[in-house]
This record gives sequence, C-alpha cells and structure tokens, in this order.
Amino acid sequence: MDDGVGERLQSVRAALGTACLKAGREAGDVRLIAVSKTFPAEVIAEVLEAGERCFGENRVQEAAAKWPALRERYPDVELHLIGPLQSNKAREAVALFDAIHTVDRPRIAEALAAEMERQGRAPKLFVQVNTGAEPQKAGVLPEEADAFLALCREEHGLTIAGLMCIPPADENPSPHFALLEKIARRNALPELSMGMSGDFEAAVMFGATYVRVGSAIFGTRPPLPTAEAG
Ligand SMILES: *Cc1c(COP(=O)(O)O)cnc(C)c1O
Repeated sequence: MDDGVGERLQSVRAALGTACLKAGREAGDVRLIAVSKTFPAEVIAEVLEAGERCFGENRVQEAAAKWPALRERYPDVELHLIGPLQSNKAREAVALFDAIHTVDRPRIAEALAAEMERQGRAPKLFVQVNTGAEPQKAGVLPEEADAFLALCREEHGLTIAGLMCIPPADENPSPHFALLEKIARRNALPELSMGMSGDFEAAVMFGATYVRVGSAIFGTRPPLPTAEAG
C-alpha cells in the first residue's frame, strides 16, 4: 500500500534537505509550498497535522471554499495563490492569500494595487514569467519581464518579491530555471518560485527559494475538467 500523506511529506522534506546540501545552500533558504489544489479539507488536515503550514492553491474559488475553516483550526497557515488570477477576483485573492505568484499583466497589477491599498493587506507578490513562451501558458514573456517589473513598481507602487515559472512539461527544466534566475538577479529580486514534484531538486540547484510540490505529497490528482482556468 501507499504511504500516507504525512510520510510522503517527510520524504519530500528529506529530499529537499538533501538537495539543499548538494547545492551548498542552507535548508531554511528554500521553503516548501504543499500544493493542495483539488484535494479536500480532510486530506489537507492530515498534512497540517504532520506539521506543514505553507500551502498552494491554484483557484481562488476553490481556496475560498476550503481554507477559511481550516485557518480557524490552524491560524498560522500561509496560503499561496499559484494559479492564474482574473482581475475581478483580485479582491478575494488579496483577502485570502499571503502570497500571489501569478502577477502577469498590467490589469492585474492595477487591480492588486487598488485592493492592497483598500484592504491594508500586502501579500507577497511574484511575477510569473512564461520562460518557454508557450502560447497557452500565463506569464510575461522573458523579454518583457524587465519592463513589466518597472511598471509594477513605478506605475502601481507594488513591491515585487520575486519571479515564478512553470517550465514546458516536455523539456529539460534547467535552462528555464537558469533564465528565471538571471532575470531575477538583474532586477535585484530575492525570491524564486520554481520547481514542482518532478524537478524541485534541480530548481534548488538554480536558486529556488520556494518550491511548489503537489503530487509528491498528496498523490495523483484527479484530472481537471477544464485547463487551468482560475
Ligand atoms: C499543480 C501545480 C504545482 C504542483 O505540481 P506537482 O507536479 O503536482 O508537484 C506547482 N505549481 C503550479 C503552478 C501548479 O499549478
């Protein structure tokens, strides 16, 4: 039989620790985000019981349905939005999430700036970069990243903490991680959100500060009815 989610969480943590050691980095330099999308609250509660406090969801609506009750039981949870954001969901997203990894167009930057001001909340913000320039994927193109970061800062007064990417599924992710690191470095951004179940060890080698790990902890997800719409 399969291990439970608690055991799988410990294995992922151990692998992350080993990857940090290999990369010559401190274990605390890389944060694990347990990606709980599609999994019900009962399963998430097992991972909370095993000690994890940092979680990722890719849909605002789904997170709004699951997390307020869990948060009452575990007030020190840190919740990350890792899926695409529509500007009409900015209000809910700012209220619910401690970090948003998918800032990728002027309308979203504007809507987030307005809501952060209105609610007096400041989730940690990441700009998503479409490092593979895939037409179906969200994110700014690599060559547009510098200008978009400047717009976020100068036009909307946003503090961007770092960059996020999802490399193309069928490619070696390492060049994508390297590209993201390069764009972050030249823009003096400290955080890199990159690496998933299949490639987080490589991401750590390239400087990830957040890895987003779902199936290696929670198991295989049921297939989604639609593509990653928010
Ligand atoms: C689902 C998802 C993950 C986790 O993927 P796994 O391969 O299950 O680890 C990471 N990042 C994003 C943006 C996701 O949507």
